[in-house]
Amino acid sequence: MPIYEYVCETCHREFSLLRPMNQADSPAGCEACGHTQIKRKLSLFSAHNSDGKAVAGTGGSSCSGCAGGSCSSCGQG
Ligand SMILES: [Zn+2]
Repeated sequence: MPIYEYVCETCHREFSLLRPMNQADSPAGCEACGHTQIKRKLSLFSAHNSDGKAVAGTGGSSCSGCAGGSCSSCGQG
């Protein structure tokens, strides 16, 4: 179950909630003031592409030696 981060528009407190994906945009109360005027922030979970791979992950045409830039083992960079 992903963690979603919210910020309260009333008191601007930031908090996170563990909730099912289909309830990500469901109303929730601020843990500090109880108001339901909250905005969802982008979570770590949504930093991934829709196919589930990390944006800056491994794979592709680069080899493990490419991390520092130019690479002699695969020619990247
Ligand atoms: Zn609040």
